[in-house]
Amino acid sequence: MIKTTIQMVWLKRDLRLSDHRPFWEACQSGPTVALYVFEPQLWAMPEMDRSHFDFIVQSLEDLSRNLSEIGGRLAIRIGELPDVFVDIARAFDITELYSHEETGNGFTYDRDRRVARWARQLGIPWKQFPQNGVVRALKSRNGWAGNWQTRMNAPLTPTPTRMVIPDGFDWGRMPQGKELSLAPTQKINLQIGGESKASETLDSFLSIRGFNYRKGMSSPVTSRENCSRLSPYLAWGCISMKSTHRQLATRQQELREAPGGSFDSRWLSSLSSFSSRLAWHCHFMQKLEDEPELEFHNISRVYDGLRENDFNQERFELWQAGKTGYPMIDACMRALAETSWINFRMRAMLMSFASNHLWLHWRPTAIHLAKHFLDFEPGIHFSQCQMQSGTTGINTIRIYSPAKQVIDHDPTGVFIRQYVPELEQVPNKYLPEPHRMPLDVQSQVGCVVGRDYPTPIVEHRKAYKSAQEKIFAIRQSNSAVEEAKRVFIKHGSRKKRDPLLKPKKVSDLRQLSLFDDSDDLG
Ligand SMILES: Cc1cc2nc3c(=O)[nH]c(=O)nc-3n(C[C@H](O)[C@H](O)[C@H](O)COP(=O)(O)OP(=O)(O)OC[C@H]3O[C@@H](n4cnc5c(N)ncnc54)[C@H](O)[C@@H]3O)c2cc1C
Repeated sequence: MIKTTIQMVWLKRDLRLSDHRPFWEACQSGPTVALYVFEPQLWAMPEMDRSHFDFIVQSLEDLSRNLSEIGGRLAIRIGELPDVFVDIARAFDITELYSHEETGNGFTYDRDRRVARWARQLGIPWKQFPQNGVVRALKSRNGWAGNWQTRMNAPLTPTPTRMVIPDGFDWGRMPQGKELSLAPTQKINLQIGGESKASETLDSFLSIRGFNYRKGMSSPVTSRENCSRLSPYLAWGCISMKSTHRQLATRQQELREAPGGSFDSRWLSSLSSFSSRLAWHCHFMQKLEDEPELEFHNISRVYDGLRENDFNQERFELWQAGKTGYPMIDACMRALAETSWINFRMRAMLMSFASNHLWLHWRPTAIHLAKHFLDFEPGIHFSQCQMQSGTTGINTIRIYSPAKQVIDHDPTGVFIRQYVPELEQVPNKYLPEPHRMPLDVQSQVGCVVGRDYPTPIVEHRKAYKSAQEKIFAIRQSNSAVEEAKRVFIKHGSRKKRDPLLKPKKVSDLRQLSLFDDSDDLG
């Protein structure tokens, strides 16, 4: 029997039709099947959540509508890979397999290797295209930023206007969450998936919300509105990095050319900060691309053993539940559990608090946060979690005071009172540290610390000092300095730092170990 030939587009974290090279290439070549595979083993991983599943389903439904407008159709399977491909290849002749390159976790990396082996055995060319600034098989970090710009300025891939589909293909159906053992989510106010929502979100940011981006990004009160909120769309590929960058550049141009400079300069400064962050997205992903082991191991191996043997399950559970006795930590953890998003500064504080104040190894806490971040992007996530834990060896160690974060970013408790109702009546001046409230005030406002709200899980100053001493004891060692040099050469941002790539003196090397690879904080 002669099999029908098909082009196969394998969808991963690229759930869109526009600026999608695999779609474009396949549609030029013949009957095309666009396939998304729900892999049960991936969905069983502790970092995957029902909210991710719902977002992906919404994105696929949107994509399916867009495909039908050009005569195409979306195929869905539940199964492991390459088994699903093996099955399809029994009935159809797959002439080419197209996908985007993926910088995923260890599971997807191993699965890609299995798919590559299978494709090789069958003689099926697997064409993988980059979809952002991450470079596969990168030889050196030198020149990376310039390459990012070149990629972003390259023309967008045209959107196909017609997709021919094969006859007799079993298109499958969208699974229910329970088929992947995912219970319905209790979360509310989640962002909705899909290319059209991504586009609306970027439009509203560039036209209205972005004006206060720089000023509003750090506070949990204002960031929900003032940050772009593009992260889940970029993480699951509902919009491409290049088209985001392109629309940003157009808006910047429009503002610069406004007649008589009739715009508020805050617009341009906000958009410039946003632009840097788009590059950071790929900068952090590049680290995982270059060193997949950083998902599991300390980036700087001299920190191995630092926290591994001290894991305190009770502290971990109180942190997870938002019951640490530090209002900003508790409000953020509860907000995350409810909405799956929190701004950068608060993420950094949560992670740093878990690693430094509670002295918990970053791996279990990173997994918990990944589950609660709708935008979970392994390359950014694991690198950032390690950065906040002091295990990269090349970043400034930041240990936040959770009380100061209240004073700086929620002085009247708008956010804290929303998520920690026990503190509803606590006067503003005691909100940073409710345990310092006089006992008569505690009874008066109906919030007795230790009964209605937890006493602090650890004492800030003591925990801070202890963490600082333990980390610095390692950081000052010669082996840490040498290791910092290795890490910097492999992963460090080269911006303004080229002279130190060739350190001449030991003091240069020591300086390297104190380098801040993160630029300014959000
Ligand atoms: C511990 C920790 C874990 C994180 N995990 C993730 C993650 O899993 N996925 C994720 O997308 N971001 C992660 N971030 C980075 C950052 O917090 C989020 O990208 C940002 O809060 C998302 O909101 P936004 O889209 O409104 O961001 P905006 O401020 O509007 O930024 C626009 C885009 O730039 C990128 N970006 C912004 N800040 C950073 C940054 N510091 N590093 C890298 N890229 C950045 C994101 O793609 C973001 O969508 C993490 C940060 C920390 C401290």
